[in-house]
Amino acid sequence: MAGSPRKYVPETEGLNQEFFLRAAGGTLHLQRCDECGTYRHPPRYYCQHCFSGAWHWEPSAGLGRVASWVTTHFTIDRGWVDDLPYTTIVVELEEGPRLLGAMRNLSVEQLELGMKVKVVGETKRDDFVFFWVEPQ
Ligand SMILES: [Zn+2]
Repeated sequence: MAGSPRKYVPETEGLNQEFFLRAAGGTLHLQRCDECGTYRHPPRYYCQHCFSGAWHWEPSAGLGRVASWVTTHFTIDRGWVDDLPYTTIVVELEEGPRLLGAMRNLSVEQLELGMKVKVVGETKRDDFVFFWVEPQ
């Protein structure tokens, strides 16, 4: 057997690249509005609350709660075939924004809405991080 196909690593650009460069440095960062303090993700130029264009990056511990999840049983991406079935979790971070990650060190039977989890980054390239979701 020739081994498993490589997993696709997306190209990043703009604000997404800034987000991933910081996460690849070892710390998750979220955008925070300078006017009203609202956190936001995915990265964008204007605040969804007050429409201000003034913001900065702020470090996050990646702590949050399970908001939703889906288990994938079939994929057309050959890079993921060996991982089937895998579960993707939507985490509502303590700061408010939601972030996607793949379940690790948990089983679907253990998942509950609202359970405490932690998002952990795994650097795939200097401008891309894959996020895992683990129990707190
Ligand atoms: Zn704002």
